[in-house]
Amino acid sequence: MSEKAMRAAMPRMPRERFLRLGAVGLAGLFLPRLVARADGRTEYVVRAGDTLSVIARRHGVSVTELREANGLRGDRILVGQRLTIPESGLTYIVHRVQRGESLSVIARRYGVTVTEVRAANGLTSDLIRPGQELRILQKTVSPAERRFIRGVVEATRRIRVEKGRWQTIVGHHSGIDRGNAASYDRYHRRERRMENGLAYHFVIGNGRDSGDGEIEIGDRWRRQIQGGHVRDHAVNMTSIGICVVGNFEKSRPSLRQMQAFRELVDYLRNEVLAGQPVNFAVHREIDRNHTLCPGRFFPTAAMHRRYG
Ligand SMILES: [Zn+2]
Repeated sequence: MSEKAMRAAMPRMPRERFLRLGAVGLAGLFLPRLVARADGRTEYVVRAGDTLSVIARRHGVSVTELREANGLRGDRILVGQRLTIPESGLTYIVHRVQRGESLSVIARRYGVTVTEVRAANGLTSDLIRPGQELRILQKTVSPAERRFIRGVVEATRRIRVEKGRWQTIVGHHSGIDRGNAASYDRYHRRERRMENGLAYHFVIGNGRDSGDGEIEIGDRWRRQIQGGHVRDHAVNMTSIGICVVGNFEKSRPSLRQMQAFRELVDYLRNEVLAGQPVNFAVHREIDRNHTLCPGRFFPTAAMHRRYG
């Protein structure tokens, strides 16, 4: 740890006293765990048994972010040490428990773990009751981690998102190896007679007719209008359609396509639509018996583990 970081980490405690308390493990007993600082940032006081990864996970930030915010080189931390929690990860929303909901159902809906919900609410068991309000940690992607959605973020800042409208995010494949937003737009207008063109809100390229992992923004997202990507009108009215270019009955999506897909869904759920539950589905789960979309090689199960 640099000297500067050391000073920042222990603003009020002389080094000798810090070491003594640290050595006997008393600091953790007497110090509050979270300290609000004058500049509005949050500090965490390390307790016996804490590790960087546990602290990072508890606050929804990465170990790298935690290290950077505190000028740490390695993983060594001391009891009583004050760590700055980077701001990017700390946003909570409030969920009011409905009848019949369990902690795991709620956690999955918001894309967090049961452990995180327990930690954020100081719960010692999984017992919850209807009407109870739970804080849900919203994980945001730090700007440095964004590789594929910068354009989406910029474009989305310029439009007024109809937050209440969007309840579900639906994953699709295009079913063919070629194409991009423009070619699918032409197809949907001419062959499918869709006056609003491209039926999806986003198209993620495979490197042939657009970049590998490039996210193209559909006109329907810019205009905040219904999609045309499933059969049911009511579902089209309330769901965001993301099409990944390729036929995933035959081959796998690329790593870059799936990273772009996760970044996009994370961003939509955790930032654009933060504060409301957003379901995740793939096309065939909605139009059962009518389509294989997005194909057997699309990692549907993994996406459900991530998004509920
Ligand atoms: Zn589909």
